[in-house]
Amino acid sequence: DQDPRLAKISSAIRVIPNFPKPGIMFQDITTLLLDTKAFKDTIDLFVERYRDQNISVVAGIEARGFIFGPSIALAIGAKFVPMRKPNKLPGEVISEEYSLEYGTDKMEMHVGAVQPGERALVIDDLIATGGTLCAAIKLLERVGVHVVECACVIELPELKGRERLGDKSLFVLVNGA
Ligand code: AMP
Repeated sequence: DQDPRLAKISSAIRVIPNFPKPGIMFQDITTLLLDTKAFKDTIDLFVERYRDQNISVVAGIEARGFIFGPSIALAIGAKFVPMRKPNKLPGEVISEEYSLEYGTDKMEMHVGAVQPGERALVIDDLIATGGTLCAAIKLLERVGVHVVECACVIELPELKGRERLGDKSLFVLVNGA
């Protein structure tokens, strides 16, 4: 049986058709943030799952992984590490290029933010094709971090991002409309 909190979370997410371009059904989590109960339930569901898993790093993906990640990190006693768009982090970085629908993008992480052998949770608001989460996993694994799981509020299952993650485990709360 489904947790009763999930239906409220799902209905608090607003879907805006044709944003930012025609054909995209944009899953807008800003309305979830306005619903204090659904927002807290979202964080609680992640905290309940990860509190006893010896996770020392929550890696949040820019930008909406920054909205959910820090609350989870504080509650489970982990540090928060931002995975950022290029040229945003001021220190020495390692970076990973990944493909988009048109062209490529890059993700960066500060050198020294994580240590080999640490256990990480990767968090973002949504998984579509899975390319973004794959880049984050690669960055962390390159520096010897064990990615325990990736977590998102929303999955768009028809885009098969879960398959792209291979045997890396993915946890999501709801499916996108
Ligand atoms: P992907 O790499 O294809 O899995 O895309 C995931 C990233 O793009 C996440 O950071 C999402 O915030 C964003 N994204 C992709 N599709 C959507 C959508 N339909 N609504 C909202 N955000 C999306």
